[in-house]
Amino acid sequence: MRRLEPGLKAGRLDAADYAKNFSDLHPRLGGHEALVASDRCYFCHDAPCMTACPTAIDIPMFIRQISTGNPLGAAKTIFDQNILGGMCARVCPTETLCEEACVRNTAEERPVEIGRLQRYATDIAIEEGRQFYRPAASTGRTVGIVGAGPAGLAAAHRLAMHGHQVTIYEAKDKAGGLNEYGIAAYKTPNDFAQKEVDYILSLGNIDVLDGQMMGRDFTLGDLQAKHDAVFLGAGLGNVNGLNIPGAKINGVLDAVEFIAHLRQADNKADVPVGRDVVVIGGGMTAIDAAVQAKLLGAENVTICYRRGKEHMNASEFEQDLATSKGVHIRHWLQPKEVAHHGGHCSAITFEYTHLENGMMKGTGHTTEIKADQILVAIGQKLDGQGLDGLKLEGGKIAIDTEGRTSIPGVWAGGDCAFGGQDLTVSAVAMGRDAAESINRSLAVMTAGATAVA
Ligand SMILES: Cc1cc2nc3c(=O)[nH]c(=O)nc-3n(C[C@H](O)[C@H](O)[C@H](O)COP(=O)(O)OP(=O)(O)OC[C@H]3O[C@@H](n4cnc5c(N)ncnc54)[C@H](O)[C@@H]3O)c2cc1C
Ligand code: SF4
Repeated sequence: MRRLEPGLKAGRLDAADYAKNFSDLHPRLGGHEALVASDRCYFCHDAPCMTACPTAIDIPMFIRQISTGNPLGAAKTIFDQNILGGMCARVCPTETLCEEACVRNTAEERPVEIGRLQRYATDIAIEEGRQFYRPAASTGRTVGIVGAGPAGLAAAHRLAMHGHQVTIYEAKDKAGGLNEYGIAAYKTPNDFAQKEVDYILSLGNIDVLDGQMMGRDFTLGDLQAKHDAVFLGAGLGNVNGLNIPGAKINGVLDAVEFIAHLRQADNKADVPVGRDVVVIGGGMTAIDAAVQAKLLGAENVTICYRRGKEHMNASEFEQDLATSKGVHIRHWLQPKEVAHHGGHCSAITFEYTHLENGMMKGTGHTTEIKADQILVAIGQKLDGQGLDGLKLEGGKIAIDTEGRTSIPGVWAGGDCAFGGQDLTVSAVAMGRDAAESINRSLAVMTAGATAVA
């Protein structure tokens, strides 16, 4: 991370405040609470919550298992579809997925707490180290996976279960992808991301090679030569930069980098933050950066978004969370210029915007906001390094309905592939489904080889 300069300060709060601010957003339900919450489920036939889940977890089934005192059975029902069900229980925007679809909303405007029930069951299984699966007999086939994020891990687990030997090549020092480096700290405290990685790898048949970056340490061609199939789950390694005068001035930071730094800090008191922080963007990253800046002790945190509230990618729940923590959200503002003092940002000028025939336009009127730290969260994009020869679509890797890319023997899924929702749960679904496709393809190869022999 770029060195943090005057204006920014670590240790703005005392230890107790840091502990409180970064404690679990939704702590795990107790046993009795879980029984009461599960009792509200109607166990619907053709359950709409299940259809709304990108991994199609059998939600009524696992809730019934909890209600009958069988949380481990519930955990297995969840893991059968989603081996990262523990993380998804913490980070899924359930308010726009399963819980939005829950029929309990109709009469009571309050869904069954599916996410918290999922967390209750999966936490028990992971804490007990309960392993429900065993790899099938070895097929003698190997698969190379690029990226140990949710997509890569989900694909690896499913492939290993089918008896294939999997090697994951991960550019960073730790596995987990954005679960480890991106998700807000208060959604996944106590090193849960690494506990989940360990749980997934405990299946066996999966090697993770850290510090191995495709495009730098090896090529896609190397992997194709070495393995029977390749899965690309490299996420979106690049960010959109701010292209205005002053954007390179000290104090202007990429929000994803800021969050990664915060996630990796052993002590939150060591993370410097501004007094007046402005966050530019309207998605989950903007919200997470703003909320965490506030929790680190920034006095004023303002999110500025160039369109209206209804256009923000961050869900209503996320926006409410931000405002409840004291973050001010302003709309219809586009950044124009960063002002500085002594080489460090001091303010940022925005132009008011509006819609004209459905197009966003500047009004010519401006406003200036004091800012000793500016966090830029205007989107991530594919890092094309090492992807030569692959067909792209919408700036991402083009795939078919099974996750196959334009190169035979190479699959892709998660954020780097076109067609997902840029959510942890959709990355898991894409990784898992591509693994099933790879397995079918390897079975055909094996049958062909046997027939020739
Ligand atoms: C700040 C932030 C907050 C978010 N919060 C939420 C949330 O609350 N809920 C939610 O559902 N989603 C959230 N998301 C989105 C979610 O994190 C992603 O959709 C999800 O992590 C995508 O998984 P993935 O496996 O495709 O990619 P990633 O998680 O990005 O993992 C990709 C992995 O590939 C590795 N890699 C990249 N390039 C190479 C290479 N060349 N060679 C080898 N390895 C490589 C990376 O180091 C990384 O480990 C958030 C995203 C961000 C940025
Ligand atoms: S829609 Fe709601 S009530 Fe029906 S099965 Fe799902 S969680 Fe239970």
